[in-house]
Amino acid sequence: MSLVQRLARPAILKLPPLDIAGAPLPGTVRLDANENPYVPLVQGQPGINRYPEPQPDALRRRMADLYGVAPGQLWVTRGSDDAIDLLIRSFCEAGRDKVGIVEPTFSAYAQFARVQGAAVVTARLGANFAFGADAVLDTMRVAQPKLLFLCTPNNPTGSAVEPADVRRIAAALPDTIVVADEAYGEFADQPSLAGEAGEVPNLVVLRTLSKAYGLAGARIGCAIGSRELIELIARVSPPYPLPGPSITAALDALGPERMPIHRQRIATLLQERERVACQLGNIDEIRSVRAGGNFLFLEVADPARLAQRLAAAAVRVRFRPNAAPGGVRVTIGTPDENAALLAVFGIASVAPGRRADVVRDTKETRIALSLDLDRTEPRHIDSGIPFYDHMLDQVAAHGGFALTLACTGDVEIDPHHSIEDIAIALGIGLRQALGDKRGIGRFGFALPMDEAEAQVLIDLSGRPFARFEGSFDTPAVGDLPTQMVPHIFRSLADSLGAAIHVRVTGENDHHKVEACFKAFGRALRQALTIEDTMGALPSTKGML
Ligand code: PMP
Repeated sequence: MSLVQRLARPAILKLPPLDIAGAPLPGTVRLDANENPYVPLVQGQPGINRYPEPQPDALRRRMADLYGVAPGQLWVTRGSDDAIDLLIRSFCEAGRDKVGIVEPTFSAYAQFARVQGAAVVTARLGANFAFGADAVLDTMRVAQPKLLFLCTPNNPTGSAVEPADVRRIAAALPDTIVVADEAYGEFADQPSLAGEAGEVPNLVVLRTLSKAYGLAGARIGCAIGSRELIELIARVSPPYPLPGPSITAALDALGPERMPIHRQRIATLLQERERVACQLGNIDEIRSVRAGGNFLFLEVADPARLAQRLAAAAVRVRFRPNAAPGGVRVTIGTPDENAALLAVFGIASVAPGRRADVVRDTKETRIALSLDLDRTEPRHIDSGIPFYDHMLDQVAAHGGFALTLACTGDVEIDPHHSIEDIAIALGIGLRQALGDKRGIGRFGFALPMDEAEAQVLIDLSGRPFARFEGSFDTPAVGDLPTQMVPHIFRSLADSLGAAIHVRVTGENDHHKVEACFKAFGRALRQALTIEDTMGALPSTKGML
């Protein structure tokens, strides 16, 4: 008898598969699901009068790829909360079976267990909230729970469970399904156990798009385990659990052109976590600071007084007295939000950067970019056109700003759309990051380069105008068609709202093109730079 057959609730093993209408197939007359045939009265969601796919195939594949497992080993759930609930409902018979947890931990495990009528068996973290495999095994060997939840990194203490400890516990408890909840796995030093889930028959891994991928509102997570276990929890799942707009949002957010920005955001959150932890570590009223996931766990001397000061500053955190006296869990936010938290402890922060995040999707291109005018790193550019990458890197490097940009476009047809749309998106990003433009230089110019000579004049006036004087002898430089060069500056001028005048002369087209982009970067640097720290507008009109 397999592990699943041995441990699952007998009633679930006997359940027939759900009797529901299949996925909506294009080109069929769909009269099988008692839906309303008319277009929904909602903008931008043309298909939501129809039921969504019961288990969305494309998203299942994308998430399987993301976590390095086969699609059949993964079940997409309504957040990982739902995966916890499905597991408990699949394995725990009310009044008989038990769920093991290691306190203090995420409250949903015990909550869902009690809803199902399962008993909760508790082990505890050791001194300094360290995870002790032996202590956990001592308790669980006796109790023999059906499921044991190990949260790594642990919410709220940040404690990590070593993968070797998870493997050892799973081996020592062959009649328990060990569930490694890796909701915060992207922020952890430990490698994921997802690849081993299912190979170790009693190991299940939970992941979510709520944290690292910023989709808490879409409610998308998953359970990863053996195919047999996944088929079992699929039977317990409601008929159409995942809303169509959430499926679309998740597929969008996990697009390959979005991944560099996710990586950069995770890195920024980790840097911010270390910075805030370090600054809070110097405060007397805070007894300890621990970092894990995208949050900090503090032990404070006087939680009631802190609560008053936080309320006065309208900063919300979670008080966790059950985890530790004076326990407080603080999520890491944007630098602005973290500055608001630090201010409650009397720590002043530097002014936040002029930043922008842009996503721009059309039928031809999908672009995601993130830029910061007040930082010079990182610069990661993947336009799909290597020579254009090089040129955009010149713009950011000489412009003195951080730029992460990726595009998936129809370059197999022609690079035109990608080149143009990236210029538009970059202009939108620059305009957004400039905000009200207070204090900037506004104008810029440059005259660099050897035998070639490029001059770029800019006015960040808000009024688009583009002039390009110069011509090229060759049709392309690298994989960048030269006829696109004037077009790029026109697209930038339009979306940035700037006058851009480019003049270029010389003999070598490679030099000439490169000179244009470098000069543009230099001109941009002068125009973007905050010159007036009093924040005056460089305009007599009173607005730009
Ligand atoms: N596991 C842990 C450890 C969590 O902290 C949370 C949310 N706070 C979840 C699972 C559930 O997240 P979601 O349902 O949004 O995927």
